[in-house]
Amino acid sequence: MPSNEGLVSLAREFRVLIVGGSYGGLSAAMTLLDLCRGRLARFNFTPNAQPPRHRIPIQITLVDERDGYYHLIGSPKALASEKYASKTWNKFVDIPALKTPDVKFIRGSVHSVDCQHKVAQILDLQTRRSIEEKYDFLIAASGLRRAFPTVPQSLEREEFLQETRQNVAAIQNAEEGVVVIGGGAVGAEMAAELKDLYPNQKITLIHSRDRLLSAEPLPDTFKERICSILREQEVEVILGQRVVDTTAVETEGGRRIWELTLSDGTQIKAGHLMNAVSKSMPTSTYLPRDALDEHGLVKIRPSLQFPRNVPNADDHFAVGDIVSWSGIKRCGAAIHKGHYAGTNLHQLMLAQALNAKPEFVTLTPHPPVMAIALGKTAVAYDSEGGLQDGEETYATMFGDDMGFSICWNYMKLSEPCKA
Ligand SMILES: Cc1cc2nc3c(=O)[nH]c(=O)nc-3n(C[C@H](O)[C@H](O)[C@H](O)COP(=O)(O)OP(=O)(O)OC[C@H]3O[C@@H](n4cnc5c(N)ncnc54)[C@H](O)[C@@H]3O)c2cc1C
Repeated sequence: MPSNEGLVSLAREFRVLIVGGSYGGLSAAMTLLDLCRGRLARFNFTPNAQPPRHRIPIQITLVDERDGYYHLIGSPKALASEKYASKTWNKFVDIPALKTPDVKFIRGSVHSVDCQHKVAQILDLQTRRSIEEKYDFLIAASGLRRAFPTVPQSLEREEFLQETRQNVAAIQNAEEGVVVIGGGAVGAEMAAELKDLYPNQKITLIHSRDRLLSAEPLPDTFKERICSILREQEVEVILGQRVVDTTAVETEGGRRIWELTLSDGTQIKAGHLMNAVSKSMPTSTYLPRDALDEHGLVKIRPSLQFPRNVPNADDHFAVGDIVSWSGIKRCGAAIHKGHYAGTNLHQLMLAQALNAKPEFVTLTPHPPVMAIALGKTAVAYDSEGGLQDGEETYATMFGDDMGFSICWNYMKLSEPCKA
């Protein structure tokens, strides 16, 4: 039936279950809300692209263990500054773009998914009851599980602010200084943020290899530049030493401090320790084994659909850090994948309702790209632009708030959801 906007409304309603409400899950949800209302997706900048001609009734169920969208990228700063932390965690119920009856939010943990019957088992974290959620399409966007202090472990905003307050107090009271163990991207950013926020505090970064970010497939010049900037910022960087022993001891004044032994026998005291070496694990345990590779990542096709050996594979998508795809895992890549999955899923809805052939967008390989925020400066590398650093690089890559506003505005989360 033609609507007053000249759109044809389809009778059938589709149920979409999105697991994870971060960059990947939210960009997929936003794409679907736009397209199903007959608008171009907000992430579509293709010249002369035409909006859809149909309005599709949709019911999106967004499940997340957290009670809000958390800007994960800002973690090295959020855990050291309560003011910044408060900005980076926004409850789902407070996000204008999600305020529509078309989106239902469940604070819960998805435990299993039956792809054959299209039903998910969810532990509702508010009632502690197990619930069943049926769906027509599923988008897995639950990322990787990361330990503290790489990311906060709180699942609710208030608890998170308390977690930050405790960490801030530990940093401020660390008379023997703060030691960050592990000079990967997170450890390097953490050390720089600590020095920027607490310039009088002694900050030491210890890394077991001879170069920082040793696991990243990026040029040595990028890694060495990060190291020299940290040293210019007066972070003490110790390379090529593993921490072989960590003992908690009590000072005469009754404070707990740490005594670290390095592989060459050197001993270091620390008032507060931040361990940034933990390995991230995929959250894909709720998905069928057949969908996963040996690392637990979803073996997506370029259309972001599950591999064909999974029942109803075409109706299951995965986006963001949980997928096996080329390139370094990044938020921009997660948003891009969410946009593409939403676009393809919309094509499937049209195809089913109108008996048409879906036209898919497909992912291409992502080259390695990385930007590291180091206080008020940043270092970035990509194969086309090469290496760059400085305050301008920080402004381009991270704005003035470690990328919070860039991501928030790009996803248009402040814009009320129009009918
Ligand atoms: C400290 C740090 C700094 C970073 N800096 C940058 C940077 O500068 N630039 C950049 O591009 N990238 C950066 N990244 C990487 C970037 O944050 C990730 O690539 C991005 O978060 C991936 O988004 P995602 O939506 O796939 O998953 P995530 O952001 O991990 O979100 C997954 C969501 O799923 C939820 N969830 C998990 N399991 C379940 C379940 N079973 N049921 C329900 N919900 C579940 C989680 O609560 C979470 O909200 C950084 C990462 C870290 C840790």
